[in-house]
Amino acid sequence: KRIIITIDGYSSCGKSTLAKQMARKLDYVYIDSGAMYRAITLYFMQNRVDWASQPAVVAALADIHLEFLYNTLTGASEMHLNGENVEHLIREMLVAEKVSEVAAVKEVREFAVAQQKKMGTRKGIVMDGRDIGTVVFPHAELKIFMTADISIRVERRFKELYEKNKNISIEEVKENLELRDYIDANREISPLRKAEDAIILDNSQLSREEQMDLVMQWVEDAIMA
Ligand code: C5P
Repeated sequence: KRIIITIDGYSSCGKSTLAKQMARKLDYVYIDSGAMYRAITLYFMQNRVDWASQPAVVAALADIHLEFLYNTLTGASEMHLNGENVEHLIREMLVAEKVSEVAAVKEVREFAVAQQKKMGTRKGIVMDGRDIGTVVFPHAELKIFMTADISIRVERRFKELYEKNKNISIEEVKENLELRDYIDANREISPLRKAEDAIILDNSQLSREEQMDLVMQWVEDAIMA
């Protein structure tokens, strides 16, 4: 039996690392829902779309086509915006600084959630994000809510960003994570929160292997249930 697995939580808790690892092990599809909000944000920035204006947002969304394409070289799926590979651009700080504002816009969420729900018609999927267990797949067989200490999360994200940009500072990264978490948890529409039936996974102290053993047990239980 193939199931739907959701992983939600604050920024940089290690959601995507775990989701990718699980998808590989189970031979499931991994979907990074955050990449969709990041790509929409990139489009808005590139095209100077005023996301405070509802008509402007609606018109812009009609011109946005999002697609995950599998890269056989890296073995990862990459975000394509209107036919262009934007996987690298959407990870930049400029996008990270605005994405939570854009993701709080009602029309943007409706646009992204509708596409995410469609992806769930085929079982055997691991999707990570903020509202996957609560809004996108409320009936998922296994829901995980990840947490980790803020210092660990900052360090992780800093290392990731520093590899690409040596000008980045720890303070900047910490501020961005805290601001995004605040906006994500306090927005009006589908705020970040734990689904009632989600299992909490605090990975501050766990090695990757320990974490994987733990969640694979949960997967087995969910498949048996
Ligand atoms: O997962 P990632 O950190 O790349 O997500 C970037 C941003 O996209 C989040 O901070 C949040 O504002 C938004 N997001 C969301 N709902 C999701 C996934 C991401 O609002 N399901």
